[in-house]
Amino acid sequence: MKYIFVTGGVVSSLGKGLTAAALGTLLENRGLKVTLQKFDPYLNVDPGTMNPYQHGEVYVLDDGAETDLDLGHYERFTNVKLTRVNNLTSGQVYQTVLDKERRGDYLGKTVQVIPHITDEIKNRIHQLAEQSKADVVITEIGGTTGDIEGLPFLEAIREFALEVGYNNAIFMHVTYVPFIKAAGELKTKPTQQSVAKLREIGIAPHILVCRCERPLDKDLRHKISLFCNIPYEAVIEEKDVDHSIYEVPLMLQRERVDDLVCRLLHLDAPAPNMAHWQEIIRKLIAPQHRVRIGVVGKYIELNDAYKSVYEAIIHGGVANDCGVEIQKVDAETIEREGPEKILKGLGGILVPGGFGERGIEGKIMAAKYARENKVPYLGLCLGMQIATIEFARNVLKLDKAHSTEFDPGTPHPVIALLDDQKKVTKKGGTMRLGAQPAQLVVGSKVAHLYGAFVVNERHRHRYEFNNAYRDRFAKADFVFSGTSPDGKLVEVIELANHPFFIASQFHPEFHSKPHKPHPLFRGFIAAAHAHTHRKAL
Ligand code: GLN
Repeated sequence: MKYIFVTGGVVSSLGKGLTAAALGTLLENRGLKVTLQKFDPYLNVDPGTMNPYQHGEVYVLDDGAETDLDLGHYERFTNVKLTRVNNLTSGQVYQTVLDKERRGDYLGKTVQVIPHITDEIKNRIHQLAEQSKADVVITEIGGTTGDIEGLPFLEAIREFALEVGYNNAIFMHVTYVPFIKAAGELKTKPTQQSVAKLREIGIAPHILVCRCERPLDKDLRHKISLFCNIPYEAVIEEKDVDHSIYEVPLMLQRERVDDLVCRLLHLDAPAPNMAHWQEIIRKLIAPQHRVRIGVVGKYIELNDAYKSVYEAIIHGGVANDCGVEIQKVDAETIEREGPEKILKGLGGILVPGGFGERGIEGKIMAAKYARENKVPYLGLCLGMQIATIEFARNVLKLDKAHSTEFDPGTPHPVIALLDDQKKVTKKGGTMRLGAQPAQLVVGSKVAHLYGAFVVNERHRHRYEFNNAYRDRFAKADFVFSGTSPDGKLVEVIELANHPFFIASQFHPEFHSKPHKPHPLFRGFIAAAHAHTHRKAL
């Protein structure tokens, strides 16, 4: 078993997660079985209760774990299936240790950060190694070197590497080499200092990945090598990508990072065949077609809030050799200015998941516009609930129909809580979470797109379609094209007299990869392209 620890220095948002994921792509394409793990130093047990402004998207796994969005990168860049073992927060570590303390497991001892907290962290690495049976475990430590709260994690990986030996564990540090305009130069000092900070706590990185806007020339690499005590060939340039994050694996391959990793860890694996990946990049850089998709949300200014949705749209584009321009639409702008002005000319409209009342009416207007103007519509989770409310109000004429999440006193609660959710009082980890099967209706558009009748998709919601209204909807052209196997929960709806109006209670975006675009996104982009083309004729 081999271990790679990825740390970050100087500033956050360097794309440590992407770098770890891209290394995963290369190693997997060398035939190695890889798994990836993220350690988050914050005290929340998981990010499930955090606001997207704090944390970005909450990424949901098959087993229902609510995790950091870097796990989304891990799954998209590789073929690994992650579980809750793959994301550890300080909150979880302390919770486990304190539970043990109360049980009396440490009877007689003083419970301390070292060794009790650090042991728990090390246990989690071993646990993943055993469960995954991977050849290589890549562990990313969240935060930046020098953060107080990250110290126990760094101490734990230092000990871990010592215990398994440096033939089996290496450190990769992702750092920043800024270009200072006034000097007209790339500057290495922040990198030197962040490596020094790591060495102070006993970690000497084997590989230094230098994030930079401009190329690192030879002299600079030599300087970094000398001052940071890192061999020249282990000073890696990772320049900002020109087009797409999916270029990162190819960039690291050009820098021979995977060769270096295999050499350091004594892994005997053939060079990766990246031809399929190159073809994905070709379609991203020079696609045959183009479409414009509107995503109507409320965290529009924050790129990370709908990360998996944006990525899945791009994958849908790859599947259709279609470049996608994503227009991020603030639902409140639609409320102010009307749908026509904002949504006109789009190839497709997508309403993603969400919580809370702000922007809801704007999203309902967007769904109405898509339905009436036959613009392709894809609704995800809240996007399905929105489509239902819109249809109830404007087609079934159920005045003031709503979800009880937004209007508890609505005369027509077409979206409501089921009894078991009504009993829930705790907020953390209590939604309907994780992968659950849905049965698709023979002859439906969605079954055709999937090419299957049973699918397993990930959920994260509390509210459901209210079955008291099923008959009334079914009599109109509102099709319940997917339900839970017992028929009780509505999973997918579609409109019969519309080229593409599909919405799911689950989140298909969490199962999409550039090399395996999700069928619903593939179909959505194909429909958007057809719609754009039709309009042009
Ligand atoms: N707020 C809605 C619910 O809880 C939708 C959740 C979501 O879109 N993820 O059911």
